[in-house]
Amino acid sequence: MSIIECRRCGKLLQYQQLKDLPFFPFCSKRCKLVDLGQWFNEEHRLPGEHAADDKEDNDETTAPRG
Ligand SMILES: [Zn+2]
Repeated sequence: MSIIECRRCGKLLQYQQLKDLPFFPFCSKRCKLVDLGQWFNEEHRLPGEHAADDKEDNDETTAPRG
């Protein structure tokens, strides 16, 4: 048997196999969602960057070298 701490709240989780913890490495779905949510927010938080919405009409043809 092994024991881990929930990555989110630090609750001790006992398990014999990882499949015993459906939300590994979290204790619950809530902890998992909260943690992933924060991670997502961090990822999406870009410092004053505007969306590159203007597509250039360049012809990107890959010319074979050689
Ligand atoms: Zn937890």
